[in-house]
Amino acid sequence: MNELGKQTPFKPITGQTFKFRCHKEITCFTKCCANLNLVLTPYDILRLKNRLDISSDEFLDRYAETNIDKHPRFPMMTLKMNQDQNGRCPFVSTTGCDIYEDRPGACRIYPLGRAAMKVNKEKDAREKYFIVQEEHCLGFEEDRIWSVKEWVASEGVSGYNAINDRWLEIISSPKSLGKKEEIPRKIQMFSMASYNLDKFRAFLFQSRFFSLFEVPQDLKEKLRSDDVALMLFSFDWLKFSLFGEKTLQMKS
Ligand code: SF4
Ligand code: SF4
Repeated sequence: MNELGKQTPFKPITGQTFKFRCHKEITCFTKCCANLNLVLTPYDILRLKNRLDISSDEFLDRYAETNIDKHPRFPMMTLKMNQDQNGRCPFVSTTGCDIYEDRPGACRIYPLGRAAMKVNKEKDAREKYFIVQEEHCLGFEEDRIWSVKEWVASEGVSGYNAINDRWLEIISSPKSLGKKEEIPRKIQMFSMASYNLDKFRAFLFQSRFFSLFEVPQDLKEKLRSDDVALMLFSFDWLKFSLFGEKTLQMKS
């Protein structure tokens, strides 16, 4: 549903192209940046907290809300809209999106939506794109014609998809979380490793982690400062700790 309580129309892309242009002179400019139910992926959070130059804790506290209804097993994070009658995104101003280069994947890809599914051991997710045509959005009346491929390239969506699809493997895994009494601890681990990368780094470097697991020295050094490497490592850790997958090797 959109903010007016109406059903958001999802339309198939016919003929592989669509008409759309968003620009500062359009009368609906920034109307779309309010009352959103915008799910933040771990990579969205990383990009935003680095853009704002704040810690993961501070970002989660100021800008994110935990949503337990959006997924049957794992808590999801959504972007906290301003708590006033307009419910605007905290990053929108009269000139547009203040964090444009680091805007979340969902904002990048609009007016498209993407459904992705990992099948067995296939390297890439199977994906399907569709149009999300909000009533207030006048961009569809403009003349620019796009193919999906052109749009995805122009908005920098591919890099986001590549990392988000690795996380998708975890949240869409059909594997059991094990014994009932272990689940709350596993959910806590999921939240920390997915959303709080600063805490995950401290967990690695301030615990006995590296004396328990085989981690090559060059990777260990990389994990100290390379946030994307750390995030990809956190996904391996989650597969190991949640589902018992052999993504990490314990020392003998
Ligand atoms: S409503 Fe559509 S055209 Fe208007 S600013 Fe938002 S995305 Fe652009
Ligand atoms: S992050 Fe930027 S593009 Fe996304 S809703 Fe907020 S202001 Fe709009």
